[in-house]
Formats: sequence, structure tokens, C-alpha cells
Amino acid sequence: MESLGVYVSIPFCKSKCTYCNFASGVFPLASMDRYIDRLEEDLRSIRSRAAGWKATVPEIVDTIYLGGGTPSLLSPQQMQRLFAAIRREFVVLPGAEITVECAPGQVEDATLASMVECGVNRISFGVQSFVDAEAKHTGRLHTCEVALRDVERVRDAGIPHINLDLIAGLPGQTPDSWRRSLEMLVGANVDHASVYMLEVDDDSRLGREMGSGGLKYYAPHVPSDDAIAEMYLAACSFLEQHGLNQYEISNFARAGAESRHNLKYWTRAPYLGLGLDAHSMLRSEGGAAVRFATGDELQPFLDTPGGGEARTLSSQEEMEEAWFLGLRLNRGVDLAAMRAEFGAAATGEFESVLVDLECDSLIAWIGDRVSLTERGRLMSNEVFARFLLEPAVS
Ligand code: SF4
Repeated sequence: MESLGVYVSIPFCKSKCTYCNFASGVFPLASMDRYIDRLEEDLRSIRSRAAGWKATVPEIVDTIYLGGGTPSLLSPQQMQRLFAAIRREFVVLPGAEITVECAPGQVEDATLASMVECGVNRISFGVQSFVDAEAKHTGRLHTCEVALRDVERVRDAGIPHINLDLIAGLPGQTPDSWRRSLEMLVGANVDHASVYMLEVDDDSRLGREMGSGGLKYYAPHVPSDDAIAEMYLAACSFLEQHGLNQYEISNFARAGAESRHNLKYWTRAPYLGLGLDAHSMLRSEGGAAVRFATGDELQPFLDTPGGGEARTLSSQEEMEEAWFLGLRLNRGVDLAAMRAEFGAAATGEFESVLVDLECDSLIAWIGDRVSLTERGRLMSNEVFARFLLEPAVS
């Protein structure tokens, strides 16, 4: 059986970023202890719940990822409780990749020390911009100096792998200021970078302001879609020149430093999501994908342990996923592997989609492999939508 990846959502933030509409918020500190209680309960009951859904839960865990929200806001005791609970239910391999997302300026010394004790070997910092005014405009609380200092603190603590997140398209960003952020990132000498094109949720504060033509949150200064695309492409070539090779639409790494946890999502390996608005994909005895998710409201989540409904995917849905998740990776989709897993239908059913995408210069073939072109990466959501076939008539 394949090893499992464990994702834990920690939805607590010190302030709400203007563009964000994740299931995260500035909740009372007291709810953090109750939240850890709830995670412990869900870990204890996962095997019996999975059995009810006819899904199997691998015992061996080789990646753990605490995302958010801001997991670095957990106290040392909460961090220890959470990892102890995971280790009670699973065998965590000694070489497991264990990542914690942190907000720069929001990592106490004691919490950092407890992360090291818990085996954390990778930190992902949500920097978004090294230009102080840009970070401030979106509600971020750190400066460039604080972010760089935290990278050093993490290194000094003995944590070897560091990812820095940047966002292209923040209000007021220009090609020059974007270049400065990229230079700072490369200068920090980290082994991983994630670059996202700004997607403003309509229900975020910034999204509502943009929708109504308002002036708050620097809404009029959000760069155009074309300017954002240019920044993204500039990042791809700049990072590549500096040894951070693109392996997924938004992810870049030095050789061997690709995120093993995130690769599970794109290769459809099993993962268990715990906490608010967390998604899981396990396998049934017969090998079918079983997906389930938790709700995205904190109070109902705390009040109803073990919630969530599971769904077993049809073979057609699995093929669709295999295509659009596989195409996220620069190495693309291997047709021989697809046929080995799904038979001739894996390519046959999607032939016209593939022909159209190639005509539109959105995908390209190299031998038996197909991957997104540069244009395809820029328009990836449109590409992926085309793989959603009409449900098969039975
Ligand atoms: S830190 Fe992350 S999760 Fe929290 S408000 Fe900002 S973008 Fe959203």
C-alpha cells in the first residue's frame, strides 16, 4: 500500500489579508485549544470513519503538512499535542518531509524550538512581497527585514528546507518592484519557491472593492491581467536562471527539493486532510479514489466531531483528474502510464480535447508525453475545464 500524506489545516490568522477568502480568520485564542482537541478526536476516529466509507487508511506516513491560516501561531504545547496525536495513529517514517507554513514575524522562539523537536524539516513562509509597501497594502504585518531575519532564524534552528511564497499582481506592484522581490528571494538562497498570480476572491474585501469600483485597499492599483501574466513569466525565467527549476505551474525547486507532499496531490497519491475545510483522497479496497472534505465554518466544525461525507469517484472522473492534475506538472502526462492505469479510454475519450488544445497551442507533445505550453500554463484553468467531460450515460 502507498504511504500517506497528512495535511492539517490551522485556520487562525493574526489579521485578514485583503485578497483572502480562505476558511481562515482572526478567531479567539481560546478556540485554538478546542481546535486541537477536535483534531485529536478526528485522528482517533479516522479508521472507523474510513471503514464506513469503504476506504483504507495507510499506516505509514511519509509527509506531513501544516497549512493555514497561520500554523506558526500554535503554542509550543499545541504543536507538541498535534504531532503526538499524529504519531499515535500513524508510523511517521524517519525521513518524512514535515512542513509548517509560517507568517514572517509570527514565529516565537519557543514555537520554533518545538517545531524542531517535533521533527519539522521544512518551513514555508508566506512572504508574498519583499517590498514593504506592497506587503502592507494587502494587510501583511511583516517587512522585508523581518522576513529575511526569519529565514536565518529557521536555518540557525537547523531546519534545512525553506519555501518562500510570492504573489504576482499585488496592488501597486510594477515590473521593477516585482524584480526586486525575485532578487531578494534568490538572495535568500532557499531551495524552493512558489509564485502565484493574484486571484482576488469576489467575496474578499479587495474583491468587493474592485467589484464596486471603490478606492479602498489600493483596489485601483491592482495590475492588469496582462501585466500579471508578464510578471509570472518573468519569474519563471528568472528563477530558472538561478537554479530554481519550475516543476509545477506555481512551484520551483532546486534539484531534489520539490515538495513531496504537494506532489501527492498532483500524482493522486493518498492523503488525509484534517481540520477546517480540509480535503482528503483515500483509496477503496478495489483501488478507486474516495474523496471527502470537512466544512468551512469554525463553530459547526468544533461542535460536530467526525463530520464530512465521502464520495467514490467513477472511472471517468478519475481519468479527468489524472489529466488535469498531471498536466499541472512540467513533466506532463505519460500516455503509457495512463493507458496502463485506465486502458484505451484514457486517451480515446479525450482525443478531441487533446487535438483542440494542441491546435490552440496550449499543450505540446514530446514522444509519448504531453505537457502544457507556456501559454497553457497562463490559461491553465481554461485548459483543465476542457477535461471535464459530460457524465457517461449508463
Ligand atoms: S495569512 Fe493566509 S490564510 Fe491568513 S488571511 Fe492572509 S492569505 Fe488568508
